[in-house]
Amino acid sequence: MNESTVFQSDLMNAVIGSPNIAKKGSLLLRLIRAVQPITRTEIANRLEIDKSTVTDNVKPLISAGILREETLEAKGQGRKPRVLSFVDDKDYFIGVNLGVRTSQVGLTTFKGGIFDEDDFSTPNDAKTALQMARERIENLIAANSDRQLRVIGVSVPGLTDAERQNLVYAPNLDWHDISIADALRVDKNVKVVVENDSTAAAMYEARMKIRNSNDGLMTNFILVRSGTGIGVGLVIGSEVYRGSGVGRGIAGEFGHMTIVAGGKPCVCGNRGCWEKYASAASAASLYLGDRPLRPNETMPRFAEIVSKAENGEIRARRSLEKIGDYLGIGIANVIMGVGIPRVIISGRLVYGWKFIKEPLYQAIKRSIIGKTEGWSVEAGEPQGAALGGALEVAVEEYLAHGLSI
Ligand SMILES: [Zn+2]
Repeated sequence: MNESTVFQSDLMNAVIGSPNIAKKGSLLLRLIRAVQPITRTEIANRLEIDKSTVTDNVKPLISAGILREETLEAKGQGRKPRVLSFVDDKDYFIGVNLGVRTSQVGLTTFKGGIFDEDDFSTPNDAKTALQMARERIENLIAANSDRQLRVIGVSVPGLTDAERQNLVYAPNLDWHDISIADALRVDKNVKVVVENDSTAAAMYEARMKIRNSNDGLMTNFILVRSGTGIGVGLVIGSEVYRGSGVGRGIAGEFGHMTIVAGGKPCVCGNRGCWEKYASAASAASLYLGDRPLRPNETMPRFAEIVSKAENGEIRARRSLEKIGDYLGIGIANVIMGVGIPRVIISGRLVYGWKFIKEPLYQAIKRSIIGKTEGWSVEAGEPQGAALGGALEVAVEEYLAHGLSI
């Protein structure tokens, strides 16, 4: 078996000699995509492999028209570096983020970026929602007939099946057993992959971490996505963790861990779930003092509460601080359970980060993990929690299983 057939069979198990280095084969394309344009020397340094190994691996990808190598126009004298990047003018990927309140459809290429984003309010009924998404997919395909659609990635606010084709349960939408891939399959040659939205956001943030770090690639972090609910994505050794065996697709369901015994009732049927106290949506009920809405009154949106806090309103600030406290209590539990001390916050909550972070840090410091060195909680990029995550799912799927060279 030569190297190109190894790549073709399965990039995740790819290539290059020793088992220790084998994992790095799967990271090679992800590194190039995250950092492009990038030199062979930088790839070798960051993956800690020989430059000749890099060359052996990129050659077939260049001949297959997947990568291109060109001379960078450097300023001044000296040798101009040769850099690698993806050829992005013939392939594209569609993402669908099915959100509890709003959904988005759009496309991306190997170069990154989000194009032709179209948002719509998510209808209560799954069938109507999928029809609306499908219409937008068909419109994008019609408008891009000169390019090849490779994969459709879908992110959903709930549990997926192990094959990543169906939504098993989305508590905040009350959708059960929805065949999402079948409903959105427009072409039998184009795979549809369905992923939990927190896992999708974690994949997006993982690429950002690769792009912004200069050292190794084996990043480990916990992503906490707080919007209408709370979901957790786990990245271990630069790979997302979805659970194992029959549990594949359910790892990270921390939003429904009980944080207040006998507390507020939750859509899942239990009481006192974390997301009733620390989601962006829970800020609204905190702001109203947990009283029911008056006639003609609407729930304040998270962005409104943040803007009131910015204008110095005490009640708005207190609500956000309370969210930070509950969020920190839960995060300390998650860190202790998973054993990964680095946390990235994603979702709408990021917009209120400056009011949330201090009480969050204090809550973690009260916990046992807070007494140790080296933990961190930082805000991620809002885009990853929406369409960015769904698009990441699509591109990653293609890099892992779809390339043919
Ligand atoms: Zn719950």
